[in-house]
Amino acid sequence: MNVLRQLFLEHLAQTSESPLMLEINKADGVFLFGPDGKKYFDLISGISVSNLGHGNPMVVKAVQNQAADFMHLMVYGEYIQKPQVELTAQLTRLLPENLNSVYLVNSGSEAVEGALKLAKRFTGRSEIVAFKNAYHGSTHGALSVMGCEEQKRNYRPLLPDVRILNFNSIADLDQITTRTACVIIEPIQGEGGIRLPNVDYLRKLKQRCSETGALLIFDEIQTGMGRTGSMFAFQRFEVIPDILLLAKAFGGGMPLGAFISSKEIMRVLTHNPILGHITTFGGHPVSCAAAIASLNFLIHEKVVEQVEHKGSIIAEALAKHPKVREVRRAGLMMAVELGTFDTVQALIKYGLDHGFILDWFLFCNTAVRIAPPLIITEDECRTVANLIVEGLNAIQ
Ligand code: PMP
Repeated sequence: MNVLRQLFLEHLAQTSESPLMLEINKADGVFLFGPDGKKYFDLISGISVSNLGHGNPMVVKAVQNQAADFMHLMVYGEYIQKPQVELTAQLTRLLPENLNSVYLVNSGSEAVEGALKLAKRFTGRSEIVAFKNAYHGSTHGALSVMGCEEQKRNYRPLLPDVRILNFNSIADLDQITTRTACVIIEPIQGEGGIRLPNVDYLRKLKQRCSETGALLIFDEIQTGMGRTGSMFAFQRFEVIPDILLLAKAFGGGMPLGAFISSKEIMRVLTHNPILGHITTFGGHPVSCAAAIASLNFLIHEKVVEQVEHKGSIIAEALAKHPKVREVRRAGLMMAVELGTFDTVQALIKYGLDHGFILDWFLFCNTAVRIAPPLIITEDECRTVANLIVEGLNAIQ
């Protein structure tokens, strides 16, 4: 075993059952490179983070320039810092009027924590509704709204008053009542194995929230920033949430998250003597600079407009294969259902040997995840589809 691998196992606490154990020392565009120069197609983008691929020159330059000007100055929100102001101004121009107030944080989990606190304060209610197979993060609040009892059991007691409904069940919507502070949902479930909402489901959910006064939170941490073929998934379903959560690709590869709402709702955290939400590193200026560059690139290069077609090239090629039971997809957010964990593992292993990287989902280990950088070209989509088909042919 090489020394680096040995030290990795010795000193990095392992919380994942089966790490990929791949040593990478260079990344460029859609490719990762091992120490021996071995080249891999990155088909997972660090779980939908590297939407622009790796080493985008505009993002790198923005990071370098901002790091040279200043890095951390003060706890978030105390000083006026241009990168934070520019980013939130630019972002809110893309959002509907009721999503005009942004609180910047460090991560997806922190955005979830902020949103749950905000909804409790605004409504004065405590019940939180979430969904089976939902993943919202690993901190205690986020864990409380996870839709997988097996993963939560060891950490109880968690937040009280959490009600878990079936995703896509109209009948369950009755359980949202005037006791409910908020409903938190991924408009397309990610870690559940890419589960799309049925036609009209999100509209009916929004209607029920409006009737009962519960706030609707869309966790777009995985679906946001163009991944599903629109800048945000809520646009494709034409349902506007009360609170929107972003992280992952939002920071252009740097740590950054946000919970976003209206000024009216957000005011309960800011105009109140009791502690709202405080973060030391949230909205880090270097992360904001990367986020601005990344947003500009997505818009000016018309990246998002091409996502749906690119996704369809891969999906159509794979859907025909006899080992593929189903392809669930929105844009370049894709699950290829293979039916057994053994087949999934065999294909992932084949990929590592033959130069492409796939993985599975936290709550769905019978499907492989395909989520390449959005800048993958159409030709590369065809190449990738062929490589995966060859893999499916080769494995048992
Ligand atoms: N929500 C969703 C939908 C996610 O996919 C994730 C991360 N996989 C999170 C929240 C948590 O984000 P983070 O790991 O940045 O805390």
